[in-house]
Amino acid sequence: MVIGMGLQDLNLPNKYFTPEQFRADFPALNRHCVYLDSAATALKPHAMIDATLAYYSENTATAQRSLHNAALQVTATIDNARQNVANLIHAQSSDEIIWTRGTTESFNLIAQSYARPLLQSGDEIIVSELEHHSNLLPWLIVAGQTGAKVIQWSSDVNELSLLMSAKTRIVAITQMSNVTGFCPNLEAISDIVHQHNAILVVDGAQGIVHHNVDVTALNIDFYAFSAHKLYGPTGLGILYGKRALFEQMSVWHGGGKMLKRTSFDGFIQEDLPYRFEAGTPNIAGIVGFNAILQWLERWDSNQAEHYTKQLADYAKSQLNKLTDIQFYSEDHSPIITFNINHIHHNDIAILLSEQNIAIRTGELCAQPLMNKLGCHGAIRLSLMPYNNQQDVDKFISELQNAIEILV
Ligand code: PLP
Repeated sequence: MVIGMGLQDLNLPNKYFTPEQFRADFPALNRHCVYLDSAATALKPHAMIDATLAYYSENTATAQRSLHNAALQVTATIDNARQNVANLIHAQSSDEIIWTRGTTESFNLIAQSYARPLLQSGDEIIVSELEHHSNLLPWLIVAGQTGAKVIQWSSDVNELSLLMSAKTRIVAITQMSNVTGFCPNLEAISDIVHQHNAILVVDGAQGIVHHNVDVTALNIDFYAFSAHKLYGPTGLGILYGKRALFEQMSVWHGGGKMLKRTSFDGFIQEDLPYRFEAGTPNIAGIVGFNAILQWLERWDSNQAEHYTKQLADYAKSQLNKLTDIQFYSEDHSPIITFNINHIHHNDIAILLSEQNIAIRTGELCAQPLMNKLGCHGAIRLSLMPYNNQQDVDKFISELQNAIEILV
């Protein structure tokens, strides 16, 4: 028996979305906390918490190793989850899905296993200025190791055409900025990158939460995201890669189950995807995330996104009434980033925290973008379909109080 079923096997009613029902699935919202920090990590619904509890309390077993029933069930669940992830992002095969610890680890894996053996001195890696540090530092590190160069790119499509050259090997870009909410035109970018025989690496950490993605149609070479931003567990990431690229990559971590045979003379590596998954996987995380992938199927994501956008528009219209406010984010984005002139963003965060309001402030792990925006930090609220107008109203009223105290 598989703990949880395949998405295609579920006998589901038509998809629907009502904000009240959606919100009711999140026990953390009963704490009377206004949670507006979902771009950092999303709250978790009962579906995931229950599945994780059941794994630890009733079905604890290892995966891919032992032959007792519970272990076989867990192994089947992990295979099923891998297929469900492949379906979610439209990968051609579940062999193209690797479990990692998060988006950050996924990029480090590509940098060390794909890029490091390939790059020669003078080769170029084009990285957009929008990137989270996790899609910049792995490239800086591998550039230092190989003599390649990291080229800064504004994320403008026309500029990319000018930057591409015979030396370009890799182009790295986010699907959605965690600072501005901007979503680059991946279709146009992918065309340009492949016209120059380079590969396209996309950071889906924020994008997958609010948008569909079809890695096959977009001809994306590597795509990474973290389960915890998509309502799932922490410590679990996904790396999608085209089979042909994974096949040519060197293995990264060595250990249990990434090999077919070994002796003191060497080893023969395991088939995909297992050769990149040395050691016991994050079993509880994958079980919990599989529950999320099934739970997501119940909800009409278009309606949920429409609702979130309306809420974001409402929040922005209320913020716009404040004087001395400077926005950095796109209109209609569920991510709203701003500063209040002459007030330090962290002072606002501390005062709001005293009122049980969770927001994120600081450099948002995007120092180059912050420099470009001309600030050393900002206030970010990030909305999800479990938020409501009362959350926004409470935030606005406490923000006004904080401003009065701080000016
Ligand atoms: N990319 C983006 C756009 C993010 O917002 C984040 C996390 O904030 C990451 C990458 C890194 O994700 P993780 O810390 O889960 O590896």
